[in-house]
Amino acid sequence: AKGLGKNGYSFFERSMNTNARQQLQLLHDLRAALERGEFLLYYQPKFATGSERMIGAEALLRWQHPQQGLLTPDRFIGLAEKTGLIIAIGDWVLNEACRQMRLWYEQGRRDWRVAVNLSALQFCHGELVESVRRTLDRHGLPANCLTLEITESTAMHDVNASLAILEQLAGMGVDIAIDDFGTGYSSLLYLKRLPANELKIDRGFVRDLEHDGDDAAIVSAIVALGQALDLRIVAEGVETRQQQAFLTELGCDSLQGYLLGQPLPPEHLSAA
Ligand code: C2E
Ligand code: CA
Ligand code: CA
Ligand code: CA
Repeated sequence: AKGLGKNGYSFFERSMNTNARQQLQLLHDLRAALERGEFLLYYQPKFATGSERMIGAEALLRWQHPQQGLLTPDRFIGLAEKTGLIIAIGDWVLNEACRQMRLWYEQGRRDWRVAVNLSALQFCHGELVESVRRTLDRHGLPANCLTLEITESTAMHDVNASLAILEQLAGMGVDIAIDDFGTGYSSLLYLKRLPANELKIDRGFVRDLEHDGDDAAIVSAIVALGQALDLRIVAEGVETRQQQAFLTELGCDSLQGYLLGQPLPPEHLSAA
């Protein structure tokens, strides 16, 4: 074509650095990934504190890239958000997680909940509520089988719009979890207004819990705050017995982390 060099790259593309070119290739692949069925969900179990009882699992997106192998979201979620592809991918995730939840439901796991992560863009997109409703209907699931995890910054991005959407979702009976709690900038006033059921303490506060007195104080304050607001408290990133003991002692309701269970394909999830 006109303007292209003999290797097929335009001058612009040739002058891009390798990293930019890799991103362009990845974007090209990402556009095709949904159609090619390259996405899959791993599931990480959530456990009730102080018991071996599994109460549900969080769906975590993976991309089986034809050349690069299994990719975690840090490699492509940013790109998916920048390009708006996250809307279609997010719908796929929601449907796939509900399809899996239906299977668990039929296997008698009726008290489990499946948790799905939402990105800010899906949240701004007008069709989220309808999409959730339709997906639950399609799989014949009661709304309380589903937890939607949103980060603080997502919820705070456009507070009034978020509140309206969250109220509709909560009104349907869907569970709302505030993810990565403590890393954002939410005011307590808004937190109080959010119709959330669950607070997830960010992994960053759990990591050095045994050694860092500040982290221990922060976690303990978050638990107290959550209890005052009548929210379930989940700690994520639990990797050691000491962390588990500490978080149990502090009053967390449920725990998630490599110590208790890695994210795995659903068929490998040990049904505790
Ligand atoms: P997140 O929602 O905070 O999910 C927890 C992340 O921590 C997961 O990484 C999980 O594999 C990892 N993790 C769990 N336990 C441990 C632990 O004990 N130690 C350590 N070091 N890490 C642990 P993953 O699967 O790579 O996902 C990263 C992020 O990508 C998620 O963070 C979430 O924000 C985003 N994400 C994942 N799936 C989706 C999705 O379907 N849609 C959207 N919009 N975002 C997603
Ligand atoms: Ca999450
Ligand atoms: Ca998190
Ligand atoms: Ca995180």
